[in-house]
Amino acid sequence: MLKDPVTEISGVGKKMAEKLNAISIYTLADLLYYLPLRYEDHTTITPIDSAIPGVPILVGGRILNLQTKSTRIGSVLECTIADENETRLKLSFWHLYPNQIQEFEKNKFILCFGTIESNIFGCSMKHPNYWLASSMSDFNLPDNLTAVYSVTKGLKTEKIAQLVDTALKTAEKEGLDELLPPEETGGITLLDALKHMHKVPKDLGMDLINNPANPYRRRIVLEELTANTAAVYIARSANGSYSSYPLQSKGILRARMLDSLSFVPTGAQLRVTGEIDTDMKANIPMLRLLQGDVGSGKTLVAAMSTLNAIENGYQTAIMAPTEILAGQHYQKFTSLLSPLGISVVQLNGRLKSKERKETLERIASGEAQIVIGTHALFQEQVDFKNLAYVIIDEQHRFGVEQRLKLLSKGQEGNRLPHQLIMTATPIPRTLAMTNYADLDVSTIDELPPGRKPITTKLIGNTSRGKLLDRIKDVCINKKWQIYWVCPLIEESEILDCAAAEDEYSQLKKSLPELKIGLVHGRLSGEEKQQVMKDFKDGNLDMLVATTVIEVGVDVPNANIIVIEDPQRLGLAQLHQLRGRVGRGQKQSFCMLYSTTELSSAASERLKYLCENSDGLKIAEKDLEIRGPGEYLGTKQTGVAGMKVADFLKDQAVISKANSLARKITDNDLATAKKLIERWTRADSTFTNA
Ligand code: ADP
Ligand code: MG
Repeated sequence: MLKDPVTEISGVGKKMAEKLNAISIYTLADLLYYLPLRYEDHTTITPIDSAIPGVPILVGGRILNLQTKSTRIGSVLECTIADENETRLKLSFWHLYPNQIQEFEKNKFILCFGTIESNIFGCSMKHPNYWLASSMSDFNLPDNLTAVYSVTKGLKTEKIAQLVDTALKTAEKEGLDELLPPEETGGITLLDALKHMHKVPKDLGMDLINNPANPYRRRIVLEELTANTAAVYIARSANGSYSSYPLQSKGILRARMLDSLSFVPTGAQLRVTGEIDTDMKANIPMLRLLQGDVGSGKTLVAAMSTLNAIENGYQTAIMAPTEILAGQHYQKFTSLLSPLGISVVQLNGRLKSKERKETLERIASGEAQIVIGTHALFQEQVDFKNLAYVIIDEQHRFGVEQRLKLLSKGQEGNRLPHQLIMTATPIPRTLAMTNYADLDVSTIDELPPGRKPITTKLIGNTSRGKLLDRIKDVCINKKWQIYWVCPLIEESEILDCAAAEDEYSQLKKSLPELKIGLVHGRLSGEEKQQVMKDFKDGNLDMLVATTVIEVGVDVPNANIIVIEDPQRLGLAQLHQLRGRVGRGQKQSFCMLYSTTELSSAASERLKYLCENSDGLKIAEKDLEIRGPGEYLGTKQTGVAGMKVADFLKDQAVISKANSLARKITDNDLATAKKLIERWTRADSTFTNA
C-alpha cells in the first residue's frame, strides 16, 4: 500500500529505511513524489573528440593507466582512457572504496557519464559515474533517459529509481485519488503525470523536469501548491481561534541593552519593534514576517523582542536552517543578552551526550531563557518549561509543517506561542501569496547609517593576475580580509568541494604570502566552525568557500568578496552572497569573476546586479528573468519544504493554486484535508484544525 512504510518493500531493511528517511522518504507514497533532479542521456556513446565542453555525455574506452594520489579531501584515483578513435581522456575519482579501486584494471573497458573539460594538458573528466566491463560489447545501453535523483550517503540514484518503480506499480494497482477537478488539470491524472516525470522516453527531451511549461510538471505543481496554500488557509483560520501569552514589554531590560550599544537603532528598527510589541502584548498569537535586506539589522530587532518574553518569565526558541547560522546567532544573542544576566543555550547535533543531557535539562527546567538551534529544536526529546515565543530565521528554508512542529512545543491547551519569522530575501508580492499568505509583514526598509554601497564589478579571466596583485596588496598593507566563493558545479557536493579544493591550492600557490583558509560542505561541523572562527578572528587573510557561506555569516572586517562564475547563480542568491561584505565602515567590493565567456543575456543580468543594491528590486528582476522556460544554474534553493514546486519557476501557477485552494477549503473541507495529507507531512496540527 502507498501509505505503508518503505520497509514493506522487499529488500529494504532498517538501515536503508534510515537513509531514505534522511531525505524525507518514509512511505511508498513519498517515493512517488520524489521527482528526479534531472535526466541523463545514456542511450548513446559520444566520441571524446566531438564532446562539447560543459555538456554532460556518455563516453567509453579502454583503460591505459592508473594511479592513486592523496589530497586534502581524500585520495583520488586518476586514470587515462582511449576511445575507439584513440582519443585520450583523463579521469579522476574521489572517495572510492578500496574494493571499488581494485575493480579498475589496465585494459578493462569503462563507460563514463560526465562533462569534459579541456585545457592545454588535454581532456579530463572529474568524478563521472562509471561502469566497468571486460569488453565494450558487455555494456547494455538503456532506451529511456536515465532519471537522476538527489541522493544521500550510501544511497545511489539507481537504487532510488528501482524503489520508485515499485511505488509506481503499487500506485497503479491501488489507484491514486484524483483530488483536483478535471477542468483544472487538462485531463492529466496525477498518476499519469508522475509516470511521465520518472520514466522519460528519449524524444520527450531533457529539460522536462525543470520546464514550467511541461504539462505533466504543471499538473503536479498545481496540486502541490494548492495543497500547501490550503494548509496555510486552514492554519490561519485556526490561529484566530487560539489564544496566546500576553507579553507586555516592561522596557527595563531593553533600555539596558540599548545603553550597552555603540549605536542607536534606526527609525525602521524602532518602527518594526513597535509593531512586534503590539502583537506580543495581545492575547492572540502573533504571526509576523520580519523582512529586511542583508545588513539591515534584523538581529537587534529580534533580540529586543525576546526581552518581552523574558520580562514576563517565559522562554524563547530561535531556529536557524544551518549550524553555522545557529552558531552565529548564539554568539550574537549571547553578546547582547548575557550582560543582562540572561541565559542563552545552544542545542545542536554536535553536543556530546552529557552536554546534551544537561542542555535538555536546563531547557526543561526553564533555566535556559533563550534556546538557539537548528531542526534539533523540534525533536521529540526537547521539552520546554514554558515556551511562549518562537523566532525562525531564513524561513524560506523551512516548510509550514516544520514551523508548526516547533510551535507545538509551546502549546498549552488552547494557547500557542507568538511567532516571528525573519528573512533576508525580500519576498516579491506574487510569492508572498502562497506560503506567506498567513503572515503579517514588517519591513526594515532602511540600512544603518554610514553604510557605503558595495562597489560591484564584472571581470573576466584576463584580469585574474591583476585581481590577485590587488588582493595581495590590500591584505598585506591594509589588513583587509577577503571571501573567495567558488562556483557551483552541479548538484553534486563532491564536485563543488573539488572545485573549491582546486581553487584553494591554486590561490595558495599564487599568493604564498597570504594565510588562506578553506570551508566547504565536506568538512565536519567542528572543522567548519573552526575555520570560520579563524577568519572572524583575523587569523586568515582569505577564506575560500563553496556557497555554504551564503546565509547570514557576519565578519565585519571582510570587505572584498570574489564570486567565481556568478552566471551560475540567480541574482537574489548573488545579492545574498554580496551581503557578506559591506558590514563595517570600509568601502566594500564585490568582484563577479567569470572564468568563461559570458552570453549577452548573462552579462546583462550581472550588470543589473552591478548597478542595483536594493534587494527587493533584485529579487523581482530575478523572478522576471527566470520566468517560464528559462532555467539558470543548477542548484535552486529549496523553498519552504516543497517537493516539486519552485516559486520562481512556477510563478504562473501560483494564483491559480490560490483560488483553487480557497474554493476547495470553502466548499469541500474533506478533499482539502486529503490534499494536505498527501502533500505535507501528515501533521495533526493541520488536519485537526
Ligand atoms: P541582518 O539584517 O542581515 O541580519 P544584522 O542584524 O546581522 O543584519 O546586522 C548587521 C550589522 O549591523 C551587525 O554588525 C549589527 O551590529 C549592525 N547594526 C545593527 N543595527 C545597527 C544600527 N542601528 N546602527 C549601526 N549598526 C547596526
Ligand atoms: Mg542576519
